[in-house]
Amino acid sequence: MNPILKLARPDILSLQPYQHAAWEPTLERMHANEMPWRADGDRSGAGLNRYPEPQPDALIEHLAHLYGVAPKSVIAGRGSDEGIDLLVRAFCRAGVDSVLICPPTFGMYKVSARIQGAGVIEVPLVKERGFELDVQAVLAACNENVKLVFVCTPNNPTGNLLDRASIETLCTQLSDKALVVVDEAYIEFAGVPSMVSELKRYPNLVILRTLSKAYALAGARCGALLAHEDIVSLLARVITPYALPTHTIDAVLEFTNAAHVAESKQRIALILSERARLAERLTPLPLIKKVWTSDSNFILVDCNDADAVLRAALAAGLIIRDPRSQLGLGSCLRISIGTPEQNDRLVRGVARASGVAA
Ligand code: PMP
Repeated sequence: MNPILKLARPDILSLQPYQHAAWEPTLERMHANEMPWRADGDRSGAGLNRYPEPQPDALIEHLAHLYGVAPKSVIAGRGSDEGIDLLVRAFCRAGVDSVLICPPTFGMYKVSARIQGAGVIEVPLVKERGFELDVQAVLAACNENVKLVFVCTPNNPTGNLLDRASIETLCTQLSDKALVVVDEAYIEFAGVPSMVSELKRYPNLVILRTLSKAYALAGARCGALLAHEDIVSLLARVITPYALPTHTIDAVLEFTNAAHVAESKQRIALILSERARLAERLTPLPLIKKVWTSDSNFILVDCNDADAVLRAALAAGLIIRDPRSQLGLGSCLRISIGTPEQNDRLVRGVARASGVAA
């Protein structure tokens, strides 16, 4: 058994999970209190009158292939948001345990912890060094009740990759103390390999991947949590019995086949060239102080007048993200890279508001 499981909540380790209706596709179903007929016009593969297969074999094998891991190392959920929630619920005792996060970063780590009644310890990224991970400060802050350390690489909303060797140091130093959860939601835009290859070396490493970004499936709601099989088995006890809707399963299998993987690669290449072009065109504008380097499909922009940039975007029919309440981001906005036409429109709008021609 993976010794890291001793960190899990004792009541989850001893939980008798819900026994969902057995998945027996060769038999006709009279065991799940479903209607025996489809709704008129239901053209889904399995029929929406039927509960879907929990953790469908075909989907799990497909995701395992896509991400280069063994199927037993994969649990799929409704976006990586669900992976975050499962980890917090399985490992953090309310009022006792904590998660550690490195702000400014993705907001759901803190929200999930708060919902669970877990503490949140914050060790800021070092802004002066390009929002770098402060490994020593993270290790120093890891008391015995810190069960999960979340690192997001590339980080949202700063856009930068975190140093891989530093993350490996965390895995080694925290090997029997905490899970290191590496959120790779944007890794496909970074041009570097995922840390999945390290899963075999670090039993306390968990990787979050999502179909929402590079595969253009945010509306399908599917993410994969990749980890040691014992962690996956534990989380499978906590996830809702039929977590993945039939439409989600169908959409992921259809839209991540070989043709769509090729389509995704082409679109990523366009996003990267647009990212460079947008940064280059925004940088000289008077309303813009600095465009941070990005390894993602968005850029963080430090503004001389962020309200004016927001208004300019709105006037151009575009909405951009206002992360100014986050630590160290008091004058920053986050812009998701759009189509070339959208990016041009944004630049023209900000230029006009700056009083210059684009
Ligand atoms: N992680 C990061 C870093 C994100 O930015 C997001 C969404 N914006 C998520 C996870 C959640 O993505 P999803 O639930 O769609 O997989």
